Amino acid sequence: MTPIRSAEIIAVGTELLLGEVDDTNSAWLAGELAARSVDVYWSLRVGDNRARLGEAIATALRRTDLVLLSGGLGPTEDDVTREAIADVLGETPAVDPELERWLRERFGRLGRDMPSGNLKQAWLVPSARSLANPAGTAPGWLARTTVDGHERLVAALPGPPRELKRMWHEELVPELDFPEAAFVATTLKTHGIGESHLARLLEGLTERANPSVATYAKRDGVHVRVAAKADTEKAARELLAPALAEVERHLAGQVWGRDGEDLAALVIALLRARRTRLAVVDCASGGALLNGIDEAAGPADEGWPLVYGVIAWRDDAMAVLPAAPSAPPSFDPVDAEAATVAAQLAESGRARCAADLCLALAPWRVEPMDGTPAAANWTSAWAIAGPNGTEARRVTLPDLGYGWRRERVAFTALVALWSQLTRT
Ligand code: ATP
Ligand code: MG
Repeated sequence: MTPIRSAEIIAVGTELLLGEVDDTNSAWLAGELAARSVDVYWSLRVGDNRARLGEAIATALRRTDLVLLSGGLGPTEDDVTREAIADVLGETPAVDPELERWLRERFGRLGRDMPSGNLKQAWLVPSARSLANPAGTAPGWLARTTVDGHERLVAALPGPPRELKRMWHEELVPELDFPEAAFVATTLKTHGIGESHLARLLEGLTERANPSVATYAKRDGVHVRVAAKADTEKAARELLAPALAEVERHLAGQVWGRDGEDLAALVIALLRARRTRLAVVDCASGGALLNGIDEAAGPADEGWPLVYGVIAWRDDAMAVLPAAPSAPPSFDPVDAEAATVAAQLAESGRARCAADLCLALAPWRVEPMDGTPAAANWTSAWAIAGPNGTEARRVTLPDLGYGWRRERVAFTALVALWSQLTRT
């Protein structure tokens, strides 16, 4: 058999078209195919409609080596994936005695009679063999056919992601012949730089197909993915290396991590390595900052390295924290500059929690932008109080909603802490 060069993904289900279920299967399968150097030029969602699904399969078969279907293998009338495949192949499904036995046994073990509708899950067509599904009742199908002299495959996998993933790995991949080619990729995670600015920085690089450079705006900054494809892994790595080095040169000082790295986890690792105890006073991110750090810290080891966290709204934190040693006697958090408030919070938090470092976020305030009251900016500030003094900086963000602002300010504060820890 010739190796599979291209695949098309068809996710089946009206619920996907209605936006009721997120089509995560397509994204997952796309990643699996990319990792095996299979090109995906089309990915489609189709409702539970036999004629339209048949049309989609027939179209895909004309242009693609492997047609991968997800969903619609259930026992109900509206699960029509098998029927649609059979229509396209011009074959008539019949109950496969072995599958029927397996299905009946499965129901028997659960102490239930098999509803008659389930019998169609034991169907096969002459061109298809079944793919076992020990995790559910719907076996998959792998059909082989020829279109205009080209070998083609149609594989149908169940919709539930857990069943789909297992069937892909255990049943389908061993049956498929993937190209020898190897695909390697490295993702650089940046901070302090917007996607359009980054795109300008990387101009020229992002237009190449192999190695390819692409940017993605994510919650933890803009990611830059450098990928290469070649016949062997060694060749792919050799192709990737100069492109990666060039991207790294352009991004000097803006990269906090790569691939699977998590910023909060990096911060926690740095704190642990230095035996540094951290307190957090969060008056701007509604707990997002603390939550990220706490999640990375895992179950508290006597609270260490995260010793204490305070989440407060507006200026309430001032009420629960003692005045910072440096606070002027008439300090009024409502009038003071955001960075001054953050510094006071960080210093009070550090004293109150007996921490080595305290990271604080000042409460938000609205500021008119360019003197126009209609357009407002939101300003908070982060501060880090430590044994050698306090560093603080304003963070001004446009009015793009509280959820967005919350994430941005938490990320900015975490970057500030990470930078300080890696600098000193
Ligand atoms: P079942 O035997 O469970 O009916 P099925 O193969 O018929 O399996 P569907 O009925 O299409 O699958 O989907 C079952 C469930 O699987 C959906 O309710 C949904 O939760 C999940 N699911 C289906 N398609 C997708 C998809 N593309 N991405 C993520 N989840 C999906
Ligand atoms: Mg179903």
